[in-house]
Amino acid sequence: MSDNDAYPLKLFNSLTRNEETFQPVHSGEARVYTCGPTVYNYQHIGNMRAYIFADLLGRTLSWKGFKLTHIINITDVGHLTSDADEGDDKMEKAAAKTGKSAWDIAKYYTDAYWKDIDRLNIRQPAKWSIATDHVDEMIEFAKGIAEKHCYELDSGLYFDTSTVPNYGKLARANTDEGEGRIDIVEGRRNQTDFAIWRKTPVGETRQMEWDSPWGKGAPGWHLECSQMSMKYLGEEFDIHTGGIDHREIHHPNEIAQNQAHNACEHSGANIWMHNNFLIDRQGKMSKSTGDFLRLQVLVDKGIHPLAYRLMCLQAHYRSELEFTWENLLAALTRLKRILIGIEKLRSKADNRKAAIAHPRLLEFKEKFDAAISDDLNSAKSLPVLEDLLTQKKLPADQRMALLEEFDMVLGLDLLNFTRQDLRVSPATVSINSCEIEAKLDERHQAKINKDFATADSIRDQLIEQGVEPMDGDPLRWEWRIMV
Ligand code: AMP
Ligand code: ZN
Repeated sequence: MSDNDAYPLKLFNSLTRNEETFQPVHSGEARVYTCGPTVYNYQHIGNMRAYIFADLLGRTLSWKGFKLTHIINITDVGHLTSDADEGDDKMEKAAAKTGKSAWDIAKYYTDAYWKDIDRLNIRQPAKWSIATDHVDEMIEFAKGIAEKHCYELDSGLYFDTSTVPNYGKLARANTDEGEGRIDIVEGRRNQTDFAIWRKTPVGETRQMEWDSPWGKGAPGWHLECSQMSMKYLGEEFDIHTGGIDHREIHHPNEIAQNQAHNACEHSGANIWMHNNFLIDRQGKMSKSTGDFLRLQVLVDKGIHPLAYRLMCLQAHYRSELEFTWENLLAALTRLKRILIGIEKLRSKADNRKAAIAHPRLLEFKEKFDAAISDDLNSAKSLPVLEDLLTQKKLPADQRMALLEEFDMVLGLDLLNFTRQDLRVSPATVSINSCEIEAKLDERHQAKINKDFATADSIRDQLIEQGVEPMDGDPLRWEWRIMV
């Protein structure tokens, strides 16, 4: 174990709606499963919030000294247009719309997702488990529970949710204030029953289909995550994560399957964690609205992806976070300030590996630990980092070493990139940063010469090109992209 365990790690468990101290199933280890993307389209920045949160969790567990095994799946089959088991398969629908094969679509959007993972400095999991690589094992899983827990309809093999104890406990679906209402569908024994195998309708051929004891078809989305999490992490593992929408249907259904498979009441994971939504003025960011924001749109506007990561870290993962361009630009400025502080520190510190021994610095470390151990309160941990940068009287090498530790958790890549790297050239701006700077120098000179007409005309030209000169910018960045 590391020495970062002054505070026990407390995590909010959606299953009990309580903060609980993390107690690993296997001593010294942490096994985490994260529901990954459905790769029928790009991920929007709200989706990426879910992976920034899972990454923060993984990094915290590593920093605390646990040997982390993190699995993220790629759903490339089986997710219907409605979580409640209705509509078309998202992959097949995207294929029909674009004329491409479902396999090509899956590959294209998986690559795009991985590119965003990289740009947000999200660590690679131990494994990306791809659903279509596991279909045979999913069929075996389903065979194992079919007799006792399932029944067949024309459309597929259905899970009878009355055969497991406390179905829907996670969603609190069965209580009066139930959060997860599921429509009644004909033929099912209970309104909450769901397909674990969907048969290809008679006379049709799907692009993605497999033989099974219930006929040709494809696995249900919920079956995928039960099978893959158990395969890689064991029948009882530590933490399962996903967005808060999964708390209502997907995760309760996974839990029901896990209980059936393991013939016990345990849900499979000890702690179920859910990040809240990124919202905008219209409400929850979602792909069904057609026009959605993805990371590339931010980059095209000249905003570094890590500014978005910082924007997410500024909020607690369980709070809703509103996306506005103002918030994002404020995060960019904050990141810039941090990098300026690090530049100054770097000029004084030449040994990043110094042992942190100064009592004041140990206090800083403790404060950071207290924040992050309190259900990953990244918002509270950030000012500790910023305060550390201002402590000029404390030993620079040790401050640098502590900064590196903080960034192990926050993942802002602070020691590897510079203020200069923050300057992303926006797609719509026709001049590059060197040209912008040359123009600003020219304008500066014109002002010294009291040639205000030229200075104003340069300003107008820049504005026309989408760049706003910022007179008197205390950070001396002196221009910003207009979004
Ligand atoms: P999907 O690709 O639709 O399966 O979603 C990928 C992940 O993003 C899941 O964990 C969802 O719960 C999560 N998610 C979806 N919309 C949002 C949102 N607006 N904010 C945060 N997380 C979201
Ligand atoms: Zn899942």
